[in-house]
Amino acid sequence: MRKPFIAGNWKMNLLSTEAAALADLVREVAAEVKVEVGIAPPFTALAAVAGSLEGSNVRLLAQDLHWEDSGAFTGEVSASMLRDLGCTHVIIGHSERRQYFGETDASVNKKLQAAFKHGLTPILCIGETQEERDAGQTHQVLERQIRGGCAGFEPARLETMVIAYEPVWAIGKGKKPATTEQAQEAHVFIRALLANLYSQDLAAKVRIQYGGNVNPGNVKQLMAVPDIDGALVGGASLKPDTFIPIIKYQA
Ligand code: PEP
Repeated sequence: MRKPFIAGNWKMNLLSTEAAALADLVREVAAEVKVEVGIAPPFTALAAVAGSLEGSNVRLLAQDLHWEDSGAFTGEVSASMLRDLGCTHVIIGHSERRQYFGETDASVNKKLQAAFKHGLTPILCIGETQEERDAGQTHQVLERQIRGGCAGFEPARLETMVIAYEPVWAIGKGKKPATTEQAQEAHVFIRALLANLYSQDLAAKVRIQYGGNVNPGNVKQLMAVPDIDGALVGGASLKPDTFIPIIKYQA
């Protein structure tokens, strides 16, 4: 019932010509697979990548947005600007934004509101740090991030949202991915929380991606986990020889 959704987060990498070339390859492969595929280039490459993806089924994601529609917010980009470039989705609350740029659950909530208002599907990133996990606070952190990020929305609004469970300790170079057991446990908790806070129906509809060192070697195993509905892929999404096998994991 939930179509798997694999998205690449290119972070602050790739110039526009490089991004467009990689998008061309992703487009070709995405046409052959059953999963939904998306890519999140840096803002500077969105227009070029939108050109590469024109007429394809690949989703164009932004990595962040500002909650206001327009105004004196130097350096920021609004939801309507992202729509203007062809974005369909936006990543909100990535741990790097929380860690380095002061993103809070309150700002995440305002960003979700802006995304919904302008018809962008939010990919809400949540996840605990190593210290929080070690202190036995994983569930508490995930609950706080979901309650805070989603505060004030009707369940019907939230049905379309995607959640990315990204344990901070599993993200980036040199980190170990979560085991399938750790990921499934967190995903089950998140789904049960959605059922408690909203409804069973909503919980059954919301796709929960796993993120944190997904690679060609572990994608199959992770995607076989019942409550994992896709992946948000960082480093491995930057190169065709690692991203393409991830997209084609069912082949
Ligand atoms: C991410 O930052 O969203 C991510 C999952 O990164 P990586 O795959 O490189 O761990």
